[in-house]
Amino acid sequence: MIKIDRKEDCCGCGSCYNACPKQCIEMRYDNEGFLYPEIDINNCIECGVCEKVCPIIHVEKDEMFLQDAYIVQNKDDKIRKESTSGGAFTAIAESVIRHGGIVYGAAYDSDFNVNHVSAENVDELSKFRNSKYVQSDTKRTFSEVESYLKSNRMVCYSGTPCQIEGLKRYLRKDYEKLVTVDVVCHAVPSPLVWRKYLDMQNDKYGKTFSNILFRDKYYGYKYSTMTIKDSDGKSIYNYGIDTDPMLRAFFSNICDRPSCYKCVFKKRYRVSDFTIWDCYTVSKFDKKLDDDKGTTRLLIHTDKGRHLFEEMKCDLNYTKVSANELTDGVKEMFESVDYNENREKFFIDANNKSGYELFGCYFPETIKVKAERTIRIFCYKTGIYSIAKNVFKKVMKR
Ligand SMILES: Cc1cc2nc3c(=O)[nH]c(=O)nc-3n(C[C@H](O)[C@H](O)[C@H](O)COP(=O)(O)OP(=O)(O)OC[C@H]3O[C@@H](n4cnc5c(N)ncnc54)[C@H](O)[C@@H]3O)c2cc1C
Repeated sequence: MIKIDRKEDCCGCGSCYNACPKQCIEMRYDNEGFLYPEIDINNCIECGVCEKVCPIIHVEKDEMFLQDAYIVQNKDDKIRKESTSGGAFTAIAESVIRHGGIVYGAAYDSDFNVNHVSAENVDELSKFRNSKYVQSDTKRTFSEVESYLKSNRMVCYSGTPCQIEGLKRYLRKDYEKLVTVDVVCHAVPSPLVWRKYLDMQNDKYGKTFSNILFRDKYYGYKYSTMTIKDSDGKSIYNYGIDTDPMLRAFFSNICDRPSCYKCVFKKRYRVSDFTIWDCYTVSKFDKKLDDDKGTTRLLIHTDKGRHLFEEMKCDLNYTKVSANELTDGVKEMFESVDYNENREKFFIDANNKSGYELFGCYFPETIKVKAERTIRIFCYKTGIYSIAKNVFKKVMKR
């Protein structure tokens, strides 16, 4: 049976939980707020299925094959605005829905917990748009997907690379009607820390929120913000990576899942049909597409993906590029995040402090932080953001 001796050996995909024929595995939160399988040994028949379906025990090799690469933008401006980058995911999902398929992705519940759920029509897809930088709970979705595939329905499943390898391992069989989409993933932060952040914002604003966007294009794509919307859909909070404490926690790698620091899914050649991620350097590929409204890098791994791309390209503005160039220098695709030395202490505090105290202690809004935000907004509004950023990078390198 599966035994997690070291936390870094479990990515929390839920494959074992979905696969257990006796249903004697539960996923339980640890004190850092991450889910791990717990086996009821009294009911376990030691069939070994849980080990067979584990994507970390049976990690797929990074073996070379032919890939197609594009930079893409959804032609629908509203979809693109609501999406993290260019709205590629919605275009893929819409194609699947046109085939009568069902789509799975990460969405908020009414309390802003992040879970994997399904959507059956185009309107419902909006809940998947915009990345939620917190680990999503896949619940029983792997078994649901299997039932739909067995009944010959088309299914699109999106998620982090570990979730997609987890699903594939769970299925242990290729299904022609399954389309998988993974993201290039920095790492996944703790749901407990996300809850602390939500409690802090709820205390501060005392209102019901209608939506929270980790990557809103309030100022533009290149300086995106964490945006909180009130019940009327009005933005009441827009803070970028320089100031917002949750984004600062995410990019400082202080609250990621232990397996993220030794991620075995970081690679170019993947088991998915599509890999999607940000494209800030649009002008390097095609100057005409550089409008600061968001562009997705799209890497296609399979003929199934190529076929679907042919069908959906009417919904996209796109440029074909070389796969080598598209992936060149993409650190998050190949390297795990660095361990933050304050991580252990941060989680002790996360269990003992309020959200306000925790974020105030680790990510205070100092004069320097406020000044950085003011300068960034000034540069953005005066149209010199990209130039200023490049100059800053060059100066810092010296
Ligand atoms: C945790 C995480 C880390 C990422 N790190 C990077 C990075 O370091 N560099 C980079 O270039 N891009 C990263 N991305 C990808 C990027 O944020 C966009 O998802 C990508 O550019 C596609 O954008 P889009 O506009 O085409 O799709 P969108 O419409 O934004 O669709 C988002 C897709 O991501 C899925 N998703 C959202 N949140 C989660 C979640 N918590 N868990 C699993 N799936 C989720 C949705 O189901 C949907 O399929 C990350 C995404 C996530 C979720």
